[in-house]
Amino acid sequence: MAQVSLSLMATLATLLDMVGSTPRPRHPEKAARAETPSLPKPNWLRVRAPGSPGYDETRAIVRDQRLHTVCEEAACPNIGDCWQKRHATMMIMGGVCTRACAFCNVATGLPSALDPDEPNRVGNAVAKLALEHIVVTSVDRDDLDDGGAAHFAATIRAIRAASPQTTIEVLTPDFLRKDGALETVIEARPDVFNHNLETVPGLYLKIRPGARYFHSLRLLQRAKEIDASIFTKSGMMLGLGETREEVLQVMDDLRSAGVDFLTIGQYLQPTRKHAEVKRYVPPEEFDGMEQAGRAKGFLLVAASPLTRSSFHAGDDFRRLKAAYLERLSP
Ligand code: SF4
Repeated sequence: MAQVSLSLMATLATLLDMVGSTPRPRHPEKAARAETPSLPKPNWLRVRAPGSPGYDETRAIVRDQRLHTVCEEAACPNIGDCWQKRHATMMIMGGVCTRACAFCNVATGLPSALDPDEPNRVGNAVAKLALEHIVVTSVDRDDLDDGGAAHFAATIRAIRAASPQTTIEVLTPDFLRKDGALETVIEARPDVFNHNLETVPGLYLKIRPGARYFHSLRLLQRAKEIDASIFTKSGMMLGLGETREEVLQVMDDLRSAGVDFLTIGQYLQPTRKHAEVKRYVPPEEFDGMEQAGRAKGFLLVAASPLTRSSFHAGDDFRRLKAAYLERLSP
């Protein structure tokens, strides 16, 4: 079986980023850092190399519409599986992020101006891919007054116009210090509002230094307060040095904020300059986390080593709705 590692895909992405007239390191802020240790990867994290007719079609549509996907930019290990089914997660507002999180492979730096035609091209791509459910995420755009909220809203509207049957999930940045941004996104009525906490609060300074744990939590809570009919979702990674107790506390915090759906996956190190993997968490521990989350009252918990926010998001959305209706029934 042809297999490919995340670090190989990340290296390819980095090399591709260097191709062109002005070679640019993907993570200039990490260049001077010492390389972190690398643990041998367990068998349960091996994935098939991408390559199938569905993968090629998805890639062609994404290229034709000149779009970024988090699947490629984050060097996601699931890309072969997802793109075979034409499930790509669009990353809007460019391929350069204003934050420099220690876990993320997306290029950092000063982004370009927004492309006002991008929402229409996302709509076109969703229609061509014939998706039942689409996840739209973005880079952080701290440089914009609204953090890109209006662009998110325009993208939701463009998808609705191009493909009215498609359900829409947005996975947004935290809109820190961008008053009114969340309201703009929620008023466009996505079916799911997702914002990832990523890790436990004690690791924020190291892993997500530009973010604030309680701000992210409050963002999720506010989304539900503004429109209770929209499902809320969050995700976190394991293997960064968190304890089980800390993860259980995050679950309680998310339930207090009314969050419906939690995803938990294994952190994978994009390059040796990123935060190290402290531990590969065995699949059975993820099963235990899923059970704990369900006991705490989430409508849905998806937890496995390869779980990502957008992995099987369409199937999960159906399960989420079914769980909601079941809870309503007498
Ligand atoms: S899990 Fe999400 S980011 Fe990864 S390939 Fe699938 S759709 Fe893309």
